[in-house]
Amino acid sequence: MSTTVTQHETRAAARVFVHGVVQGVGFRPFVHRLALRWHLAGWIRNASGDVQIHVEGAPGDIAAFVHGLEAEAPPLAQIDEVRNEPRPPGNLTTFTILESRREEGRRQPVSPDVALCAACEEELFDPANRRYRYPFITCTDCGPRYTVIDAMPYDRERTSMRKFTQCDACRREYETPGDRRYHSETNSCPACGPHLWSAPPDPLAIPDSEHALQSTAELLKAGKIVAIRGLGGFHLAADATNEQTIARLRARKDREAKPFAVMVRTLAEARSLAFVSDREAQLLESRERPIVLLRKRPGSSLAHWVAPALDTVGVMLAYTPLHHLLCDMVRRPLVMTSGNRSEEPIAIGNEDAQRVLAEIADAFLLHDREIVARYDDSVVRVAEESTVFLRRARGYAPLPLKLPLASPRPLVAVGPHLKNTFTLVHGADAYVSQHIGDLENLETLDHWRAAFDAYRRLFRLEPEVAVRDLHPGYMSTRIAGDLGLERIIAVQHHHAHVAAVLAEHGFTDRAIGIAFDGTGLGDDGNIWGAEFFEADLGTYRRLGQLRYARMPGGDLAAREPWRAALGYLALDPDAPHAFTYVLDAVNYNVRNVALQQISRRLNAPYASSMGRLFDAAGAVLGVSLDNQFEGQTAMLLESLAGTRRAQPLPFPMVPGSSGSWLLDPVPLLIALGELRTKGIGIPELAARFHESIAAGADELAALLAADCGLGTVVLSGGCFQNARLLVSLRARLESRGLHVLIPRRLSPNDGAISYGQAAVAAALLHRERSQP
Ligand SMILES: [Zn+2]
Ligand SMILES: [Zn+2]
Ligand SMILES: [Zn+2]
Repeated sequence: MSTTVTQHETRAAARVFVHGVVQGVGFRPFVHRLALRWHLAGWIRNASGDVQIHVEGAPGDIAAFVHGLEAEAPPLAQIDEVRNEPRPPGNLTTFTILESRREEGRRQPVSPDVALCAACEEELFDPANRRYRYPFITCTDCGPRYTVIDAMPYDRERTSMRKFTQCDACRREYETPGDRRYHSETNSCPACGPHLWSAPPDPLAIPDSEHALQSTAELLKAGKIVAIRGLGGFHLAADATNEQTIARLRARKDREAKPFAVMVRTLAEARSLAFVSDREAQLLESRERPIVLLRKRPGSSLAHWVAPALDTVGVMLAYTPLHHLLCDMVRRPLVMTSGNRSEEPIAIGNEDAQRVLAEIADAFLLHDREIVARYDDSVVRVAEESTVFLRRARGYAPLPLKLPLASPRPLVAVGPHLKNTFTLVHGADAYVSQHIGDLENLETLDHWRAAFDAYRRLFRLEPEVAVRDLHPGYMSTRIAGDLGLERIIAVQHHHAHVAAVLAEHGFTDRAIGIAFDGTGLGDDGNIWGAEFFEADLGTYRRLGQLRYARMPGGDLAAREPWRAALGYLALDPDAPHAFTYVLDAVNYNVRNVALQQISRRLNAPYASSMGRLFDAAGAVLGVSLDNQFEGQTAMLLESLAGTRRAQPLPFPMVPGSSGSWLLDPVPLLIALGELRTKGIGIPELAARFHESIAAGADELAALLAADCGLGTVVLSGGCFQNARLLVSLRARLESRGLHVLIPRRLSPNDGAISYGQAAVAAALLHRERSQP
């Protein structure tokens, strides 16, 4: 019997369907190589919902091939499912890549943008390489994806690279199996790809990318502010060691105190500015390249005005080839802050940016690869080995999250008022948008609509149900109504916070949910923000809260911490001796108006907000009377507290109405004020304040867990961006043997609200269906 005959007798074929992030990640070239290794003929194609493969050959080889699909997948791929079906073998003799196929009603994840890979970085600085110093170098392992993709399946004609036709050299790479750029849809080179130019043009320079880069580097070194078009929008760049430049940037951007992020090229440079733990180093160098909040190194070259009064600074490593080239030329840390006017979304178009940033930037570095999606830098910090998201965008969105209870109907959760994201849901897949911003102006509203349309198009999703916050007046509530869907579900803000954490952990049982937050409308019409729930995905019962105080001036209280302090003072007529700093510092007439608002209950809503309690403590301690940006006082208190050990002050638990419990902050604020007048240091008191909150919350949560017979506690809400509070409370609860769930893949802050809203609505719809 000859070998050929044996092979013929055992020849088999299979159709393999791979679902997950498998387009735009070098998957087709990888599969091609794998098929050749196992002597298989067949084909592969991208389709709207998956990657489809046909292989023919020996059964053992096919099995090895299918195993290799998952075991050896390229670094950027994320495989959710591999399904294979036997097929009758044809008579194929080669393995080919077929045209992509569009299929109605099918969807798949889209890869986020990825930082420059090591191989491309090497070529970028190799004088012998044809892409030496080419600012748009990419390969199948790196570069823009989400920000250039119009629609799926992923092919050049559906990206903003379509207008650049590959030259012969590039096309050869694109067509050569085994080449790193085989089927790289963003492939280009200096001869055929996008290019840079500066505005205003330098009359003495040759108008090409290299000269544009050089003049930008010179301007930055000379202390100028340059608006640079990047991946997902413009950055405003400036020399982070130049005090005057950074002060000028603040003045022009009308941004007095909110910290700026800094970019450097190497980990070593990051270490010269800040302390970097192993975990932080990993994040800095990860392909997602987020801004990582690090503890400043005293005496570093950073200008004071980069992050005034804070002990932390946000640092990121260069992630595009353009950044690498610029950082290499300037050799100084650069402030890289969003190219926008205060409160507006980041600018993405050349003309748009030159108009909007005209008063801020001295010059522009522009390019001609259109930005399809606005995409801010992501921001994270590390709290004892746990990554805490402060903003989730570039590198992470639009990768989907799962919902533990699938929604029987497609839905959109429109998200909160501030730090908005939205979430589109199909079944158990939740597509959480990148950070959109505060829905307080028309520009951000336009950004919302554009991003929503892009998600619907990319994921081919038409929602039937809208999910919104309880608050009737929010812009997001109006958006939900304007969508014209047959059904709208309203979800309480802090239930959404708790549900977001439950859902990302796949937890469907009941738990004790703690939400420590700024502001959200409660179902009693008051402002909530320090809540203890017994909750699951679909329901909640409020069992504890911070004692209510009236906030004179309503929303103004979030900007002026002394207002919250007065609200608490009004609860105890014997307390003024502890509030002397506030009483002395605030103008008598202004203060009186506020006190009258409280006593007459005029524009002085009840609030149980942990954010406002941090504000009140900051005011009592004399740390801050004024918030330049959301959460500033809390950040100052955390910075002051540092890591020093401290004992808690009294923060007693008292019975409230109908069996619930209150945490009473008045004794705590009085103790802080009294100790301050005795001359105890502010850092010591800031630390004791943090420990008081953690100890009080721990005691109440433990009591409620015991009462309800539950062993799991959820920590959620914007206050848990505070690493000290998160770490201390988690440690206290865990030392009691309680299981603690914290936000991991989404932020503790309102960036997670839309996903939480989606989780609640999906659970409700799920229950309706199972209990008709
Ligand atoms: Zn690369
Ligand atoms: Zn080329
Ligand atoms: Zn919130």
